[in-house]
Formats: sequence, C-alpha cells, structure tokens
Amino acid sequence: MLAETVDQALRQRARRVVPGGMTGHLNAAALPVGYPQFFQRGDGCRLWDVDGREVIDFMCAWGPNLLGYRHPEVEAAAQAQAALGDCLNGPTPRFVELAETLVDTIAHADWVLFQKNGTDATTVALMVARAATGRRKVLAAQGSYHGAAPWCTPVPAGTTPEDRAHLIRFRYNDVASLEAAAAEAGPDLAAVLLAPIRHDLGIDQELPSPAFAQAARALCDRAGAALVLDEVRTGLRLNMPGSWEPLGIRPDLSAWSKAIANGHALAAVTGTDALRDAAGRIFTTGSFWAGGVAMAAGLATLAVARRDGLVVHLERIGSLFRQGLAEQAVALGIGIRQSGPVQMPLVLFDDDPAWEKGMVFCAEALRHGAYLHPKHNMFLSLAHTEADIAQALRATEAGLQAVRQRFGAG
Ligand code: PMP
Repeated sequence: MLAETVDQALRQRARRVVPGGMTGHLNAAALPVGYPQFFQRGDGCRLWDVDGREVIDFMCAWGPNLLGYRHPEVEAAAQAQAALGDCLNGPTPRFVELAETLVDTIAHADWVLFQKNGTDATTVALMVARAATGRRKVLAAQGSYHGAAPWCTPVPAGTTPEDRAHLIRFRYNDVASLEAAAAEAGPDLAAVLLAPIRHDLGIDQELPSPAFAQAARALCDRAGAALVLDEVRTGLRLNMPGSWEPLGIRPDLSAWSKAIANGHALAAVTGTDALRDAAGRIFTTGSFWAGGVAMAAGLATLAVARRDGLVVHLERIGSLFRQGLAEQAVALGIGIRQSGPVQMPLVLFDDDPAWEKGMVFCAEALRHGAYLHPKHNMFLSLAHTEADIAQALRATEAGLQAVRQRFGAG
C-alpha cells in the first residue's frame, strides 16, 4: 500500500524494523483513526505531527510535559550542563543540588535515589521496602499501573507467575479488601503500594477516601510495612510537597518520574530516615542514571514550578476546561462524566462501555485541533493559557456534535 502521509510512510518503515511498529502505551494503533504516531516538534502546549498538523496538546507526552514543551529556562539549564558533559565517570554537582532540592520540596523526604523511568522508581522503592523489612509480600490495587517490569506489566506475555508471586491485589478505596489482602500476606508484608488517586485506564478516576488513606497508613504502621506512593503520574501537578499532604497522610517511600525534569529522562525514589539504611544497602544502578543534563533540567523545573505557581495555574485552567465541557454537554443533551482532579482531565461518556463515543469525540476534536484521549486521564501544563482552553473548547464542541450526530442525545 502506498503511504499517503509522512506518518503512514514512517509507520510502514517502523513495522519492518520494530516489532509491531511501536510498543506499549505510545502505540497509536489504540487511538482513534487520524491520530498521528510520529511527531516533529513541540512548543509550549502545542505539538506538530510529522505531516505538519498543529494541535493543542492535552496529553503532555503522557505526563512529562509539566511547564510546556521546550520551556526556555529548563532548556537553557539543560544545554548549559550538556556543554560541560552529561554521562561522565560519576555524577555532577547537580546530583547533590537536586537531591537537596527534592528533600526540601517533598514533605516526607529525608533522602533521594535517582533513576531514569517510572518503572525504575517503583521497582527500587519495593527493593528498599523489602531490604528494610526482610519480607516479600506487596499489596497493590487491582488495575493500578505501576510500570512495565515483569513484576507489574499489565500484559503477562514474557513473564513468569513467579515474577508476581508476592503481589497481592485489593480494590482501591475499599478498606475491607485492603485488610483482607494484608491478612493474606500475614507477617510477610513488606509494603503497600498505592497511586495517590485511582487513575486506571478507561474508568472514572477516584480520589482516595480519607478513611482509605488513613487505613493504609495505619495498616503499615501496625504491620511494620512501608507505605509506598506511586507519584509517577500525579507528582508535582497535584501538590508539590506530595499528593497526600492535603489528607495529612505521609508515605514512607514515594516513586517519582515523568514531570520532575519537564520531559528530560529522570526518576527518583524519596524516603524517610527510617529507611535510609536499607536504601543504602540495595544494589541498584544504570549507565545513565547519574546523567547531569536531566538533573539540571530537574532543578530548573522545580524552581519554575514553585516561582510560577504551577498548581494554582493548573487548577485554574483545569476548572475552565471542565466547566466549558460540562456546559457544552448539557446544551447538547449528551451525558458525560468528568472525574478526578481538574489538572488531570478525564472525559468518559455515559452508555459507552467500549469507548466508541469517546473515540468519535476525540477523532473529531483532533480534526479541529485538540489532541485528547478517549480513555486515559489527560494532563495540563503551565503553558496552557485561557486562550488555549477557549480554542480547545471549540474543538470539543465539534467533537460533542459528532457524538450527537452519530449516537443521538443521551
Ligand atoms: N507508575 C505510574 C502511575 C505511571 O503512570 C507510569 C507510567 N505511565 C509508571 C509507573 C511507569 O513509568 P515509566 O513508563 O516511566 O516506566
């Protein structure tokens, strides 16, 4: 078949040299027709695909874009470090400076270990918990994504039952189910691993009930196990010192990645003094983990986020987007549900178990210049302005009209 677009041509070439053309969540095959696989560039809250189409982006590279693509101060800091060197025989001073800044920023943190990806961070956090306790069992919520290592990848191909033999699942926000899982682990309980909010694919997001968060903390205290928060997706955008700070609940360990260096590859585990010794005993490393460029970017990211009132901005534009969409849906008589924090929008349609309405909505919105996702939570950045939201709402209006035309009101 002759490729009609640059994107199609690249997909054809990729299929020959990359199994499936693209792996994992970035595979555009799961997205509505018309969604590009390949991108040329990003700037602020906008992306240009390889065919030159410009969109207002609501995925933020699936989380890493926090301040805007190519944020000038972050890129200047990264380039200044790149001019000196990135991957050297050991870390640069940025390693210490960033660890100090994270300890100052994150409420529960007394120390930091750096990695590159979110999966590295969740995996290392569990190693610390197991080293500290000498125990094996980890409780994690059904449907929660914690990465793509054999112990947690959602698709079991290529893994063994032994890889996840010590993982016990419970229902998020269900204290009885959590307690039952802890009872099953018994004296072998090393950790409870939780996302700060329930942000599973394809279902409404849920904030943790205070009772559930308290129960998780109390259970870990009782059992001498570690409470681990997976902040990879939520980190910095909900509440910079920690997503559960407003609940008054502090974890023992947290896993961070995605946004902490505004798109530069960086991850971190933070922990409390009680776990410092265990964190120093595990052997964990990677050729690129101490690279200075991402750490320089991380320092600049944290400074800009703090100075420019990141969270307040995200809440403001997130509320504008949510309110605008809600009004459009009411006016057109279409049942939609928007759930979770406004800075992580998710739009699901009533009576849409296979997300077909969501696919039509997104496909049409994309044609009108807004890149949305039909079933994964989306993200906003410091670069999204009120004017961008107003422009994106014209695209969602067209998307909702297409849903109404195809499926009727209701
Ligand atoms: N935990 C959560 C909550 C995530 O959202 C992700 C990535 N989507 C990960 C862990 C894994 O991060 P990475 O893809 O960088 O390994």
